[in-house]
Amino acid sequence: MPQLFNDLLDKLQKSIHDGWTGVKEAILSLNPIPEPIRPILSSRYFWFVVWIAAFSTLGRNLFGGRVGNWIGLSVGGGVWYWIMPHSGPELPILIIVLIASPILGAWLNHTKLGRLVRGTKICPDCAEEVKVKAKVCKYCSYRFVIVS
Ligand SMILES: [Zn+2]
Repeated sequence: MPQLFNDLLDKLQKSIHDGWTGVKEAILSLNPIPEPIRPILSSRYFWFVVWIAAFSTLGRNLFGGRVGNWIGLSVGGGVWYWIMPHSGPELPILIIVLIASPILGAWLNHTKLGRLVRGTKICPDCAEEVKVKAKVCKYCSYRFVIVS
């Protein structure tokens, strides 16, 4: 009797296993992801970028602006390091970006290139930054001579 029971159990386990394998293969064959994209999706770097983007969005929503972005990237990188201690070059690159971006941002704040990106100009009277299209300075009411 116990032998019969064991045989039955074996059969049951085998059918569940085979059934599961069949279900898994059916799901894989239905895979809507095209073949050329699959290596990208299985790449750790792709998921690192997605991960980091999610954290920077979260940081921007919680703390706002560039600072929130920076906080989000730092926390995201830290959590990534925590769950993937043997990660490759992605973290050193992120750390370089995290150090360089505030420096670059601060530098852009005081350069002509930065003003070009922001679409602003400097008022010759009060030295404040105003929009390029402004005809009157919002700080000192200086009237710009629009050459056109
Ligand atoms: Zn002004």
